[in-house]
Amino acid sequence: ARAAYAAKRPLSAALHERALEVLGGGNTRTVIAYGPFPTAMTRGEECRLWDLDGHEYLDLCGEYTAGLFGHSEPRIHAALHDVLRRGINFASVGPGEEKLARLLCGRIPSLERVRFTNSGTEANLMALTAARAFTGRPKIMAFRGGYHGGVLTFPFAGSSLATLPLPFVLADYNDIASATAVAQEHAADLAAIIVEPMQGSGGCIPGTTEFLAALRALANETGALLIFDEVMTSRHSAGGMQARLGITPDMTTLGKYIAGGMSFGAFGGREDIMAQFGGKLAHAGTFNNNVLSMNAGVVAMGEIFTAEVAEALYRRGEALRARLNGLAAAAGAPLSFTGIGSMVSVHFRTPAPNRPYAQGQGEEQLRELFFFDMLEAGIYLARRGMVALSLPVGEAELDRFAVAVAAFVDNRAEQLR
Ligand code: PMP
Repeated sequence: ARAAYAAKRPLSAALHERALEVLGGGNTRTVIAYGPFPTAMTRGEECRLWDLDGHEYLDLCGEYTAGLFGHSEPRIHAALHDVLRRGINFASVGPGEEKLARLLCGRIPSLERVRFTNSGTEANLMALTAARAFTGRPKIMAFRGGYHGGVLTFPFAGSSLATLPLPFVLADYNDIASATAVAQEHAADLAAIIVEPMQGSGGCIPGTTEFLAALRALANETGALLIFDEVMTSRHSAGGMQARLGITPDMTTLGKYIAGGMSFGAFGGREDIMAQFGGKLAHAGTFNNNVLSMNAGVVAMGEIFTAEVAEALYRRGEALRARLNGLAAAAGAPLSFTGIGSMVSVHFRTPAPNRPYAQGQGEEQLRELFFFDMLEAGIYLARRGMVALSLPVGEAELDRFAVAVAAFVDNRAEQLR
């Protein structure tokens, strides 16, 4: 699969060779680096992409959820053109940030006040800083398999807590006993419990309602703040995953699609926590309120991603996952699809679908095979096998994906056995 892949992409291969001469590690985003060399995309339209060598793809990666609106949403393009006409980089506050903040506080239950950043990583670092300042405590509880940003990665095994920028203590995801034990051990020192309501990078593993409710109770008991990292999951309803769950954290972090595809992050929560930024806490950042992100975000969240659109996208994803799992079950193939709504991840030989995957025998090779077979079928997904549906993806595109998955199950029966 790799040799066929490489033979068809001489221009992407050559670009990779040149990039290795000037970019540390050959690129600037670990997640899109894979062997033998990554495909370089150069153009996008709605849910289609074209690479440097001229191949066309159906884009089901959806820029790891940031590409919710596709590549050419006319209302977002119009908002950006309008900003460009008025000029960029004013070193000042502006109406766009007030409007976007009002939209988000109006939708997400836990957001009484919000502030903007350039990325989800920064949003999490700022939320954790705010929690530490508010509680006067140092430690943060996070979960194995969790991902909160480039410097906030928590692998399942061999994670080196020493390289993390803050003092973390780790528990097992979806394991109430583990979370309770860790919270009790560090109760007096715990500033925050940070959790993804669904682990995204960890394989689209939904947190159970019981587990997330238990974290709410543990935060109340210990005096730690509960932070929901909804950088990915906020797309699951107008009010995010928290509205769907009926569990309200003290703070929430956001990112990805909210600025219509421009760089974005946000953190917010209770008024008393966020009031620290009027006094003892500073939060500067040249591009925090950049006019491209703020004004694209106002249109994206105010006009396009309405509650009805969010609900329809959620249902489309639920139907896709059921269809793919039905197809795998009917073929008796050892693959399954997890996730919530429009986010779907493939798993091979996974023993416990409700837990972050302990990778089964040969899981990684099958994951790679799946990725390259989909590319060969003209379908672009995240290398780890994650799909994030964007709004332009319609029934015809989902049919095409289902056909490609069925062909994979058929053609790779031997490897899957
Ligand atoms: N939190 C979660 C749950 C994420 O999925 C990500 C990005 N994949 C981040 C935080 C970090 O966001 P960013 O890449 O914008 O820094």
